[in-house]
Amino acid sequence: MAITRFAPSPTGYLHIGGLRTALYSYLWARKTNGEFRLRIEDTDTQRNNEDAMKAIIEAFDWVGLSYDGEVEYQSKRVDIYKKYIQQLLDEGKAYNCYMSKEELDALREEQMANKQTPRYDGTWRPEEGKTLPAIPEGVEPVVRIKAPSDGVITFIDGVKSIMNFDCSEVDDFVIARSNGMPTYNFVVAIDDALMGMTDVIRGDDHLTNTPKQIVIYEALGFDVPKFYHVPMINNPSGKKLSKRDGAMDVMEYKRRGYLPEALLNFLVRLGWSNKDQEIFSMKEMLELFDPTNINKSASSYNEEKLLWLNAHYIKNVSNERLAKELEFFDCHLEGHDKKEMLLDLCKERAQTLVELKEAISVILDVPTEYEAKGSKKFVKENTIKVLESYVQLLEENKNSLHLACDYELITKPFIEEFELKFPQLFQPIRIALTGGTQAPSVYDIMAILGFEETKTRINNAIN
Ligand code: GLU
Repeated sequence: MAITRFAPSPTGYLHIGGLRTALYSYLWARKTNGEFRLRIEDTDTQRNNEDAMKAIIEAFDWVGLSYDGEVEYQSKRVDIYKKYIQQLLDEGKAYNCYMSKEELDALREEQMANKQTPRYDGTWRPEEGKTLPAIPEGVEPVVRIKAPSDGVITFIDGVKSIMNFDCSEVDDFVIARSNGMPTYNFVVAIDDALMGMTDVIRGDDHLTNTPKQIVIYEALGFDVPKFYHVPMINNPSGKKLSKRDGAMDVMEYKRRGYLPEALLNFLVRLGWSNKDQEIFSMKEMLELFDPTNINKSASSYNEEKLLWLNAHYIKNVSNERLAKELEFFDCHLEGHDKKEMLLDLCKERAQTLVELKEAISVILDVPTEYEAKGSKKFVKENTIKVLESYVQLLEENKNSLHLACDYELITKPFIEEFELKFPQLFQPIRIALTGGTQAPSVYDIMAILGFEETKTRINNAIN
């Protein structure tokens, strides 16, 4: 039973990298009948953004990832963190450090000049037999944790296998600032421990935080969870994904007409695989996902694939669902008697809901102008005559015209009788009905519009 969490810092919108780690954590918790928690890491009050916080919750709702319990906000838990800081001070596992910023800067400069990695030098670290400097007046101390001064911090990462960090890489880092506020790594470790996390799945940009967090777990005697550090998502040229490539607000995917199923399917495959399977329903993801199979190398964002998946889901979800999704794009099909026919026809070619809406509008919107190159066709005397006769033919058969095939049945003999080539009839009709030359089969359009509307549109175009 895995207890996992997603712990975004609300400093910007939820982007797809974040959603991917959320999805992996969600799948692992649900698959193992565990718990999936949502924790907002909002202790950095200057960088937090209310809108971003709402957008994260909204994005979760949109994709349908449910979390257990209440959303936790770190900003409301400061007293808990302070209690543990005090405990570490009381137990001698942490200490006050009065080094001023100037002194720290000077130390850093000196170390860099000697080509050493900057690290705190332990001036205020209490040791047996060591005399500490006199406490300067008017300086509020920071609190530093006593990190092990030699040896190796080791953990097994479920993605990257064994990780070793030499203790020289982890100094006595600050766990509380001089204003008493706890630092980032401290609160993450405390929360993960108190919330009982068994598995922490997160981006590998956090890999170097992990040894520090382990120092905190160990100082407090907490169980260390399993870690899975997920490699980044790059753009197709192997560089960090930028906004232009797709690292945008998850809700932007909604606005661009993606279905959440398609986005989740895309994300599950972006960094994880099960043989060569590409399409995963949520049920299959839950059956098959295992974080130990997360890819070891960075993945590459591929928009074509996302579009391909989206087209797949648009074709495969119910028309009822599509109609509901289209409401967001101001396309209201409820109560339209040809809704099914319309969606069956238009969804075949749409890669996004935006394209679907456009394809529907081409048919439903009464044309207000006609494509210039096409409208010349109306000028020809003969075309107008053909269309007039065709409307007459429709009129005579109007009671038996329901489906596309009904229109087809009466149109074929008409074409023969007038010795026309198909485009000579269809192109002007297509323009008359939709205003343009790019539209699906004329029979389908006529069946959807019905006889009366077809007649009106053709008459409008030729008169
Ligand atoms: N709050 C961190 C972030 O948004 C994630 C911390 C974690 O997963 O441990 O990048």
